[in-house]
This record gives sequence, structure tokens and C-alpha cells, in this order.
Amino acid sequence: MPLLSVSDLKTHYKSRDGLLRAVDGVDLVVERGETVALVGESGCGKSTLGKTVLRLVDPTDGRIVFKGEDITMLDQRRLRTVRKSVQMIFQDPFASLNPRHAIGEILEAPLVVHKAGDRAERRRRVADIVAKVGLPADSVSRYPHEFSGGQRQRIGIARALLLNPELIVCDEPVSALDLSIQAQILNLLVAMKKEFGLSYLFISHDLSVVRYFADRVMVMYLGRIVESADNATLWSDPRHPYTRAMMAAVPDPSRRRHAAPLGGDLPSPSHIPPGCRFHTRCPLATNLCRTQEPEFRPVAPGHHVACHFADEPTE
Ligand code: SF4
Ligand code: MG
Repeated sequence: MPLLSVSDLKTHYKSRDGLLRAVDGVDLVVERGETVALVGESGCGKSTLGKTVLRLVDPTDGRIVFKGEDITMLDQRRLRTVRKSVQMIFQDPFASLNPRHAIGEILEAPLVVHKAGDRAERRRRVADIVAKVGLPADSVSRYPHEFSGGQRQRIGIARALLLNPELIVCDEPVSALDLSIQAQILNLLVAMKKEFGLSYLFISHDLSVVRYFADRVMVMYLGRIVESADNATLWSDPRHPYTRAMMAAVPDPSRRRHAAPLGGDLPSPSHIPPGCRFHTRCPLATNLCRTQEPEFRPVAPGHHVACHFADEPTE
């Protein structure tokens, strides 16, 4: 049984611009111990998908099953048990750290909510996790503004780990950090995954960030997954023109395959183009693409692509 399984998930909003189809029919599976990367441009629906999976946002349609339990319609009270097992790490942890509370209090709060041990036990758990994420012991008595961006992300990770979750949704956890700090935080996430037996749904707009540690990569465009493969296959044999364009933006002297970087703007999720939703920016688009939506279909075992021409040679 997969840890998380999502089918035909839709999250639509009413907006002044019309119906906004942020998530528009996504299937997704995360197995135990797996890191699944969800990659796409900003505005493609990745964060909404991450939040919907955690039921921080209500889905319009579809099904979310966590550890065999259908949580799609679960009420807030019953969701509390699930929430212990599924945590989220955000791009900017500072925004979610109360500036008037010391780190020790901030980290203790979820333990209080979930009635995890007495005061001494909670303090011990907080001290343990602070050490595990590489923060100095005296951090607990300091305030959020006293920490650097990288240290704040360590605090965000500590908070996510405190309730012994099984799945963590990481939403652009390193995008706001300097390159050298990015590597440190990614290494920490990898180490924590091993130590606690975690699974990750890792959201990023940057394919190069997930290249060295994702097991599987799902490429998202305008609310839908357009390509899904294990990490190595995606890099050696990308089939969707959108995936190839994203790769072209990643500097890599050893790669022989060249594609033009992506031109044009992402259309609005309230005005999704008919046919293949990528056709307005696709260099290979034909009349068929403008009228008929391609099926998301297997091109090899474990490798799925939504493109009419996914079987054609790429070089
Ligand atoms: Fe491009 Fe057509 Fe494939 Fe869509 S179906 S990605 S428009 S070639
Ligand atoms: Mg986002």
C-alpha cells in the first residue's frame, strides 16, 4: 500500500477572472521511503497541490488516500491525527515563526497541541531535535530575528520533525537561500530522511535542485502532470518538450542534448489553452495539438508522458 495516493485531484477557485483551475486532474503516488519531486514553473499549481494533499486547502474533486485511509472529506477534528503524520516545510519559515516567541516555545507548541508528554519530556524532545538539525543548544532561548535564513530553515525542519511524521511536503525549502546554504539544507533533509525513515514530496521550480536526491520526478504544467519518470530516466530520456525546455535552462557542459529554453509566458490557470495545454509555447505544436488533449500514457515502464509525439526520436 503506498503511503500517499492521489487520484484525479482538482482544486478550482472562483476568481474575478473566472474559474481558476490551479490543480486540474492530478494522479500521484508516494511510496514509503521515497522522495518524489514535483517540478514546474512558478504558478503551475505545485504549491496548491501540496496544500491540497495536506488538506490545508479543500479539493474540488478527486481522492486523497493516506496510509489506506481516504482523507478527502475528513473533518478537521479527525484530520488532526493525520496532521501529525504529514508535515510541511515552507520556502520562508520566518513568515510562520512568531517573532515574539523564543524558538523553544515555538517548537514546543505542536507538542502541547498534540499532548505529547509532560513539560520536561517536551523540553527534552525539543533539545534533541535542535541538536539533530545542527543548531546550537542555546537557540531555544533566542528569537527568530536572531537567525540567518539557513538557520531559520533548520528551525522549520526541526518543527516539522517534532511530531515524528511519515511524510513531509517540502515547498521550495531552499529557493530563498544562497547556493552554498542550499547544499547544506538539502544535505540535512537527506540525512533526516534516513534517520527518521521519512518520505518527501519535494516541490521546486528548479530541476537542478532535485537532480541529486529525488527518486522520481513529476513535471507539472498548468495544473497537470505532463511527464513522470524515475530521476535517471528523466535526465537521460526526457520526452515532453516542456521537460526538455526546463532542462535546457540547467547549465550542464556534459549534456549533449540541446533544446531551446522556454519562451513565452505561462498562460493563466483561468484561461487554460484547449487541446494540449502546452501548445501555445511548444516548438513542435501541430493542428492536432491545438484541438486534442494528449493522454498521459506510458512510453516505457514507469515513464509516463502527456504529448502526442512522445514516441518520436528526440535527436
Ligand atoms: Fe507540444 Fe503537441 Fe506534445 Fe503538446 S502534444 S507538448 S503541443 S508536441
Ligand atoms: Mg509556490
